[in-house]
Amino acid sequence: MNEEKNCLRCGGTNVKPGVLQSTGKIYARPNNANVETFLKTGVLVNVNICFDCGHVEMVVVPDKLKSIMKAC
Ligand SMILES: [Zn+2]
Repeated sequence: MNEEKNCLRCGGTNVKPGVLQSTGKIYARPNNANVETFLKTGVLVNVNICFDCGHVEMVVVPDKLKSIMKAC
């Protein structure tokens, strides 16, 4: 995720990668996914934060998501 990204909201280039966090990492789970499989592995939600307007874009790695869905 080192490629330069433009903010989806304002088009700015001052966008830095990060993670969404509460007391731990946040994971995305499709509705029909096996809960147990996701609790063991999960798909980490990464974010791109725009330092110009504050927009936070949430993204997951598609290949990781696909591989977990195959295991469900
Ligand atoms: Zn922005």
